[in-house]
Parts: sequence; structure tokens; C-alpha cells
Amino acid sequence: MAQRDYYEILGVARDAEQDAIKKAYRKLAMQYHPDKNPGNKEAEEKFKEAAGAYEILSDPQKRAQYDRFGHDAFRGGGGGGGYQDVEDIFANFGDIFGDFFGGGMGGGARQRRSRNESRRGSDLRYITEVTLKEVISGVERDIEFDTEKSCDDCKGTGAEKGSQPVTCTMCNGSGQVVRSQGFFAMASTCPQCQGQGTMIKNPCKSCKGKGRVGEHRKIRLNIPPGVDTGTRLRVAGEGEGGYNNGPTGDLYVEIRVKQHPHFERRGEDLFAELSVPYVQMLLGAEIEVPTVTGKAELEVTRGTHSGDNVKLPGEGLPSLRGNRRGDIYFRVNVQFPEKISKEEEKLLKEIAKLRNLKVSDEGGGFFGRKK
Ligand SMILES: [Zn+2]
Ligand SMILES: [Zn+2]
Repeated sequence: MAQRDYYEILGVARDAEQDAIKKAYRKLAMQYHPDKNPGNKEAEEKFKEAAGAYEILSDPQKRAQYDRFGHDAFRGGGGGGGYQDVEDIFANFGDIFGDFFGGGMGGGARQRRSRNESRRGSDLRYITEVTLKEVISGVERDIEFDTEKSCDDCKGTGAEKGSQPVTCTMCNGSGQVVRSQGFFAMASTCPQCQGQGTMIKNPCKSCKGKGRVGEHRKIRLNIPPGVDTGTRLRVAGEGEGGYNNGPTGDLYVEIRVKQHPHFERRGEDLFAELSVPYVQMLLGAEIEVPTVTGKAELEVTRGTHSGDNVKLPGEGLPSLRGNRRGDIYFRVNVQFPEKISKEEEKLLKEIAKLRNLKVSDEGGGFFGRKK
């Protein structure tokens, strides 16, 4: 599936400042906002596309990854650019609409919730680090976090057992009070119930009337092989507890891959430096090299040049889709000995003679070469 360039989608330069990116996204989001284009599929797609681009470019770390690796940086992991559901966009960037759409437009700054409204708990975000070795094998990770849920004792009402919240006496349950000022009638949030419309006379002891209690959650997470920095794993139903019997939110676990001391990752391939003695470079050799998980034999063929990348096939990283593993590329650097023995010197001088090359009779132990 061809994906458009994120900068192109937002219509900004590659070196655009964060402000310009935000502005460009706002403009597109307003233009293609679903409330302005009801039933228009194309506008909806554009709306999602812009949100996908903004998600990446507004995050300096994701933007840097995108600049380096393009769309491959997020492939497979749902790490970015992939919005299926307009509601997710509001959940993530709702604040950007706030200034423009106010509460009136769906999904903008949402209206104050009433105490009795049933709704889904928020999604949670958790960041966890994995090593390259774990990227190869996949790993089970126990994660712990704090969230909240409806209070069991009062079923989320905040009122002590046997009692109920009562209708607010100041606003008669509307959550708003209207004052007349000359010709104008001004509505404002009810100060007595903070817009809830109800009040609690007899607060629940377990939650002190809040209707919500903290919850310490501990889950075992299965991180599949092939994840990359920015990969997001969705754990359904492990987010914040719902309100008034609403469903629980989801947990999104975001992956960070630890930097390896020797290997640099590019997609599924790894790159490393390798010094190879000049004799082996000249004659070709099988050389034992480190991999992420152990050791392997690398075949350096005769005629390999210093600076060449020599491939060790299949020892790279698995793909998230699991079809194949990448390779390791060793950038070989020719290595000359610090010192040579008398015997080596004798042999090398014979080689010089064979090649008709003038060399110093005596020197610092190195062999010279005539150009
Ligand atoms: Zn009130
Ligand atoms: Zn309670």
C-alpha cells in the first residue's frame, strides 16, 4: 500500500518548526472535520490521513525516526499513521479542536459529563524497554501501573450505601445557572454542583464521595518478536475502568528498543564494524563473529575490500509479520599488525620483490609501498 509522505500530507517543509506543523494540521483538520463533511468518505480519509501525519511529525522522536527510515520506521506495529477510527483521533488530539470548535462540534472539547452518564474509561499509555535480544526472541514482561475504576462499594455514585445522590438545589439538575444581565441571559456552570446536576449528601466512605478508587494493576504482557521503537501494542480492556458501567479503556504499550553497543539497527538488518587481518582479507577466510545471540562464521571472500559490507544472512531481526529474518552486515576494515617478526619481514620482502615494489631496507617494522 503506497503511503503518502507525511510532510506532503500536511503541506509543510521538511525542516518546518513544530508551530508550523501544528498550524498546518489544524487547518486540514478543520477543513475535513467529520462534522463539517457528514457522510463524506473522502473527507474522512483525509481527516485520518492528516491525523496520522500529525501524530508522527508532532512527536520529535517519531519525527526523527520517520526522517531516517520513512514509513518503514512504523511498519507493522501500528506505531503511527494508522488511524482506523475517527474517535481515536479525538481521543488523541481533541485539544487541538477545542480552540476552534468548542463543545458544540462533536469530538471537540467535550461537554462536561454528567455524573450518571455511562462512558468508557480512558486508554492508558505505558512505555517499556526491550533489548535487541528480546526483539529476536519476543519476551513476556510483567508490567505494573496505577489506574482507577468505579468504586465497588457505591457502584460509582459516590453516595454511601442506602443513599442516592440528590438533585442539585441551585440548578435543579441542569448543571447550569442562568443570570440575566440587562438584555442578556448568561448561562454559567452551577457553582454548587460544578455542573454535575447532582449532589451527594452522604458521601461513600471508601471513595470519599468521588465514586472512583485507585487500582494497582499487574499484567503479563506478551511482546512479540520484531518490535521496534515506536511499536504500539494494544491490550484490550486493561485501561482505566469505565464510568457507570461503561466499558474499560484499553492499554497501549509503547516499545523502546535499547541501543546495542555494537549493532546498529536499520529495519530488520543490523550493521557492525569488523577488523580483519590483512592476510585474511587477501586470501579469504571464515571468521568467527559475534551475533546478537551468540557467534557465527562469516565468510570473507578473497578480494574483499576494506570498507565493504559483508553479509551474514539470516542473523538480523525478525519482521513483526514473522515471515523472515533480516541480515547482519559487517563493515570490514583491514587490520595491519603493529609489529612484524624478522621472519615475516623476510617473507614480505620476497613478496615485494615478486611484485617489483621498492621497500625500505629498515624501518619501523612496517612495509612501505611504492605508488
Ligand atoms: Zn447545580
Ligand atoms: Zn464509593
